[in-house]
Amino acid sequence: KESRDEKFLWQHMDPATSTVTASYCNQMMNHQNMMVGPCKPVNMFIHELLPDVQAVCFQGNVPCKNRQPNCYQSSSKMHIIDCHLKKGSKYPKYNYQTQQLQKPIIVACECVQYETVHFDGSV
Ligand code: ATP
Repeated sequence: KESRDEKFLWQHMDPATSTVTASYCNQMMNHQNMMVGPCKPVNMFIHELLPDVQAVCFQGNVPCKNRQPNCYQSSSKMHIIDCHLKKGSKYPKYNYQTQQLQKPIIVACECVQYETVHFDGSV
């Protein structure tokens, strides 16, 4: 079974794409097979190097949306890509809106090495 930090990597990390086009979210959300069953209405991809994202676990501690205490806000803005399911989009042709943002991110961290496990938001 995949670990939570592995799931975080495929769901939220994309350090590689050089040009983000309007069809980015359709491609990424398709590719990552999140459209099986109920599709994910919102997903963020982080366009930064992994060590920079993992380092957020040691930056500003903030309360999580679910009130757990293990969330951390990045001290600098990060390049993120917001994928939002468009209204009226139905199986099997899910259509996502792609929006590029530069914002501090908030992630939840867990485990011995304190790895990112959940994307809590951006501010
Ligand atoms: P994501 O939330 O990253 O978009 P997801 O919606 O598929 O992905 P979640 O269940 O929200 O999955 O979170 C991923 C994992 O993070 C879960 O295993 C959850 O238990 C864990 N987790 C740890 N700490 C928190 C927290 N403070 N808030 C939410 N999830 C957390």
